[in-house]
Amino acid sequence: MTSAAPPAPEQRVEVPFMDLAGGIAPIRAQLDAAFARVLDSGWWVLGKEVEAFEREFADACGTAHAIGVASGLDALQLTLRALGIGPGDEVLVPGYTAVATWMAVSLTGAEPIGVDVDPETFAIDPALLDAARTERTRAVVPVHLCGRPADLATIAAWAAAHDVALVEDACQAHGATFAGRPVGGLGVAAAFSFYPTKNLGAIGDGGAVTTDDDALAERLRLLRTYGWRARGDSEIKGDNSRLDELQAAFLRVRLPRLAVDNARRREIAGQYLRALADVPGLVLPAGGDGHVWHLFVVRHPQRDMLRAALAERGVGALIHYEIPPHRTRAFATAGQTLPVTDRLAAEILSLPLHPTLDDAAVDAVIRAVREGCRA
Ligand SMILES: *Cc1c(COP(=O)(O)O)cnc(C)c1O
Repeated sequence: MTSAAPPAPEQRVEVPFMDLAGGIAPIRAQLDAAFARVLDSGWWVLGKEVEAFEREFADACGTAHAIGVASGLDALQLTLRALGIGPGDEVLVPGYTAVATWMAVSLTGAEPIGVDVDPETFAIDPALLDAARTERTRAVVPVHLCGRPADLATIAAWAAAHDVALVEDACQAHGATFAGRPVGGLGVAAAFSFYPTKNLGAIGDGGAVTTDDDALAERLRLLRTYGWRARGDSEIKGDNSRLDELQAAFLRVRLPRLAVDNARRREIAGQYLRALADVPGLVLPAGGDGHVWHLFVVRHPQRDMLRAALAERGVGALIHYEIPPHRTRAFATAGQTLPVTDRLAAEILSLPLHPTLDDAAVDAVIRAVREGCRA
């Protein structure tokens, strides 16, 4: 790991992990117009923009419904609540995921049961589902981590055989496809986040549930706003979890660009995979059809040294996620054992990958990784 000298400051290309402002620049005028349209409408919560976005997003996912909510976390937890899941129930979740997947289950009163993942694909390992299931298991939540669709065919068959609901966590996988079909319509429902860093990001928080189930969609519409159908009379005990008109208007600007943005992500991932294939010690992520590369996560036995070497060369790399959910203080008391997840957490490193990363930046990342891995 003692690597070649870092480049002199004048030839150094700074590649931050993210460039959210840079992503806004090409659509600035459209966003300004959307902002003005909503301001002038005088209607800012649950109106025409949300309705239009819900229709457009449902079409993109090939589902009958999309229900806008306040975040990806809420999309998950409200879906589980709408399915009647709560105290006394168990929900199977992957060990390797964002803590939100686990937190959503807990917020319903149910218990998240971690299932270990496949070390190559990072997805929940279908072979481990039987051992994790009890008579309390009500749902399984596969996560399309990093934008790579989980093996939904196997998981759907397993879920159907055991009368367990399949809820997709598609928060990292807008536009991804499994066997040619968009994610979001492959289980009973799917949760999406529009957090700014996601493949489809708002200018703030937002989320949505997609589903083909009319009754579930209706229940979610009640749950997101105090259980109201008619304002003032709560039919059920609901929440306040609404997608703002402004965010919906911004998302309507971005949604038509999602396919182009995802194509650029695939192109960059392809460059990394080709240019880094022969680097000793470096394990590259699994590719695959339908992958939208929300994150490009490599593995290295000396991850922290590699990260430092990249930082020295101006390349920002992050760890998703340094502390897996079962090791966080909130969940560690349950004492769940997830050895593959633990091993991955020690080795993973996310390289910069977003649609506005240009070729010079991609080359700088490749150079920095090659130098950083040189023993
Ligand atoms: C981002 C994310 C969430 C939560 O979304 P928020 O909008 O931040 O609440 C849930 N699951 C996964 C896998 C995510 O990446």
